[in-house]
Amino acid sequence: MVNTKALKLLLVEDNLTDARWIGEILKEYNYQKSDVRHVKKVTEAIDSLERDDFDAILLDLSLPDSQGIESLEIFQQKAPQLPILILTETNDPTIALQSLRQGAQDYLVKGEFEGKTLTRSIQYAIERQRIEFNIRQQALMKKMLDEIRNSIDLETILKTTIDEIQKFLNTEQVLIYRYESEQSEDISIVASSLDTESAQTTIDRFISAINESSLDSIVSQSISVRAVESTGVDLLPPSLIQDLQAVSSYLILPIWLKESVDCVYEDLTHPIVLQDNAEETKEGLWGMLIAYNTTTPRKWQDWEINFLQKLTTQVTIAIQQSQICCRLQTANQQLQQLAILDGLTNIANRRYFDLVLNKEWQRLSREQKPLSLILCDVDRFKAYNDLYGHQQGDRCLQKIAKILRQSTRRPADLVARYGGEEFAIILPNTEAQGALFIAQTINQTLAKEELPHQKSGVSKYVTCSMGIATTIPNSKQSFTQIIESADKLLYRAKNSGRNQVAVGPVDSYQEMNIK
Ligand code: GH3
Ligand code: MG
Ligand code: MG
Repeated sequence: MVNTKALKLLLVEDNLTDARWIGEILKEYNYQKSDVRHVKKVTEAIDSLERDDFDAILLDLSLPDSQGIESLEIFQQKAPQLPILILTETNDPTIALQSLRQGAQDYLVKGEFEGKTLTRSIQYAIERQRIEFNIRQQALMKKMLDEIRNSIDLETILKTTIDEIQKFLNTEQVLIYRYESEQSEDISIVASSLDTESAQTTIDRFISAINESSLDSIVSQSISVRAVESTGVDLLPPSLIQDLQAVSSYLILPIWLKESVDCVYEDLTHPIVLQDNAEETKEGLWGMLIAYNTTTPRKWQDWEINFLQKLTTQVTIAIQQSQICCRLQTANQQLQQLAILDGLTNIANRRYFDLVLNKEWQRLSREQKPLSLILCDVDRFKAYNDLYGHQQGDRCLQKIAKILRQSTRRPADLVARYGGEEFAIILPNTEAQGALFIAQTINQTLAKEELPHQKSGVSKYVTCSMGIATTIPNSKQSFTQIIESADKLLYRAKNSGRNQVAVGPVDSYQEMNIK
């Protein structure tokens, strides 16, 4: 049975007799005069659509300012959510089929139907249009979300979102404004393309106005969406109206995040919790999505607001995922760092030293270039610990590591803690002469530091002994060869009275000790 509840119809018909006839036959079915808005031209119809809500459009295909299928296209663009029923004099099956293929919900020939048929047709058209429109929106939402979720990078997510919304809503500007967060240096604003300086000025004013007043009211009232057709309406405080003169109409959607996690360097002692405990979950205002027009005012349709609300929920999830991902990446980086760094001195550890030395050994054997290795051992460090305590000993090792690091300059040089109070420096592409220069620089800098060591027996201050081995690596031999040579030379420096450097080639023993 046909539901006779009156709907709001827009009748676009230039022929007054036809319009009157349609009005008459609808009257029998509960339609009042006020339920049918009659206009004669496309321009008038568009005007009505901007000001009022309708349930369906009854469209004559021959109008003074538009003819045939073209009229259909105009209305489909202007009001994609509304069903369009064609009412025409022309009983032409070809045009009828073409209209339906183009998206019209029905094609009725004037004089061939009565009120009952028309009202039923309108009811069915509305239902069909609603189903089709929902399916189209779901498909579009899926496409948009696929694009948005294709990235875990926050800036790309936000940029894709505003691009898609701008296209979808056909609005002049879209911006995502991130509510200021003290810990984060992340993007605070992402906007659709700005053509002019004045657009930028508008945005600045807009944001400062939002910051001052409406943001607070949004937060306190926890409203989920605000749509404003014109800045002249009473919805806004007067101070804001002045600031928003340049904005004709806008739509604001707050973005609430369950927990505002910022991508900052995390302390690993606090493990990352992916599954938040419900009781501990905080909800905070992350930012806002704002769609607005500066030149032409517009009326936001309910379906547009609903669609944007759904999209914002999904974008919120994408933002949250991106943040979790970012935290994981940071944690991974930290773990990688922890795996190669020595905890006490923050220079490379023994494991990383072995990796790099092996790699350089292979590379320089291919290139037939020299490799130097300095082994550096703190003199009488056991006695230092005994006298000053282990903690002071640790601080002394940290200072020496810093001096070592500062004494090397090339990116390929590597300073590592070889073990205990022993350090190693890998110097690729470096002859013995260059390595000796670095070793001497280290000893001189250390001497200048004047770190007291009363039980040294060598000096009043902390000193080091070093062994330097230099060779052109041979891939048939192991990289441990150069370590053994440097170790032998270090031993020699120790035996010769400490606080000195022993230099020599790997294979021969023509060493020289330099004080
Ligand atoms: P030499 O001049 O012959 O090198 O004498 P030394 O006392 O430095 O040599 P030895 O190998 O006998 O002692 C090394 C000392 O370095 C023993 C150990 O207590 C100390 N040491 C090793 N690792 C650390 C560390 O991480 N922190 C501190 N504070 N001391 C360390
Ligand atoms: Mg030692
Ligand atoms: Mg020592």
